[in-house]
Amino acid sequence: HSNINILQHSINRKKELENLVHENFTSKETKSSLNMVVIGHVDAGKSTTMGHLLFKVGAVDQRTIAKFERESLAIGKGSFHFAWVLDEHTEERERGVTMDVCVRYFETKHRRVTLLDAPGHRDFVPNMISGATQADVGVLLINASEFESGFCEEGQTREHAVLAKSLGIVQLIVAINKMDMIDWNQQRYQYIVDTLTVFLTSIKFTEANLRFVPISGFKGDNLIEKSSNSNWYNGQSLVDLIDTFSIGERLINKPFRMGINDIYKSTSKGSVSVGGKVEAGVIGVGDKLLISPGQEICTIKAIKRANMDSEWAVGGDNVDLGLSVDVATAIRVGSILCDPEKPIKTARVFQAQIVTFTVPVPITNGYQAVFHAHAMEEPATITKLVSLMDNAGGVSKKNPRCVGDSASAVVEITLSRPACLELYSNYRQLGRFTLRESGKTIAAGIITMFLDKKKKKS
Ligand code: GDP
Repeated sequence: HSNINILQHSINRKKELENLVHENFTSKETKSSLNMVVIGHVDAGKSTTMGHLLFKVGAVDQRTIAKFERESLAIGKGSFHFAWVLDEHTEERERGVTMDVCVRYFETKHRRVTLLDAPGHRDFVPNMISGATQADVGVLLINASEFESGFCEEGQTREHAVLAKSLGIVQLIVAINKMDMIDWNQQRYQYIVDTLTVFLTSIKFTEANLRFVPISGFKGDNLIEKSSNSNWYNGQSLVDLIDTFSIGERLINKPFRMGINDIYKSTSKGSVSVGGKVEAGVIGVGDKLLISPGQEICTIKAIKRANMDSEWAVGGDNVDLGLSVDVATAIRVGSILCDPEKPIKTARVFQAQIVTFTVPVPITNGYQAVFHAHAMEEPATITKLVSLMDNAGGVSKKNPRCVGDSASAVVEITLSRPACLELYSNYRQLGRFTLRESGKTIAAGIITMFLDKKKKKS
């Protein structure tokens, strides 16, 4: 009898949530959310530009900026006050380098944008990856006055762009920054646009999904309003371009999945605040979720969507959740919260399609690297080289003996322990990964097939 009650309750609850979500999507909530990552070479002006933009759209007030201006002058870094909006930690401020992926929100006419500020330093590529794996769209910042150094083999422009593409970002705005330093030279701008168009289309961005805009992140030109310094430019300002990004389909009807990227607070009493992106499904306050890997169940106490309290959240939202859980240590960065009735699989052996960057030695059978997917990492071994692929996606060689630089291949990967993963075809974000070795990203890829023996443990 009580089982029937519980069932009835859960059916009612589901209906209630569906109505709530439907109502909000169709009427009140006219703005769709967008997760945006900002990438580019170190010093291209990512933090300055985004800090200035946040200020201009009113997401940061004048008093805060004035305070940052005073503080940055005091330590001899006068030009960094806009960047500080995004660089919260003192160490970053002193070094002038953004390290974590910080999250900020701002609104354009039609979009509520969650900004994932990705750093440009070589050591921080893992952070860039964790930003990019959550992003729907990207802004690539280019330093117009030193374009070549960012674009050379060691520069991060190429690596970031290839990574972003491999991780599923298809729409990109290229903001050519520091135009004030080259006197708003149109020929130079056009040269950079042409060079980048050739490169970006060669790594399979389509021209229709690329937008270019000349800006000065520091002075503020073309951030919100069109600047009189670039009368030759017919396009839109950066913020208007961001407003035209199209929104991908939200996975509302799939079982709930959310990767945990941050744990803010955990108390011995078993209440935990976590942050991450809902990949799919719908949740409401009071719902129970399974923490995977493991068997621990938690209950949702509070939801914040785009920094605002909410009764519910759906696929595509960046959220903070207040959870109550018996064993707080069951939750880690890299855990997946999922629907207890339709939990995520754990996998140890799988087939994947990879693209390699620069590999220290060619990849052969038995090659070891660190596997990074959503916010988890795990030692991994390449246990089989299945085939090499050509640019059109066909097989160019079966059972190759090695995979070198800038190649596409199908390989079998074995993790040292089972991890929560999905096929790329089912849940894009939970089915893509990178391989790293000695602090460098050597490949990015997508999971195409699970190969674990069917015997179920749990
Ligand atoms: P990031 O490493 O890409 O985040 O770059 P930052 O935002 O920290 O900027 C690096 C340096 O370039 C700082 O000294 C900024 O003041 C400067 N900078 C950024 N944007 C501009 C710009 O549009 N014009 C000029 N002249 N300097 C800029």
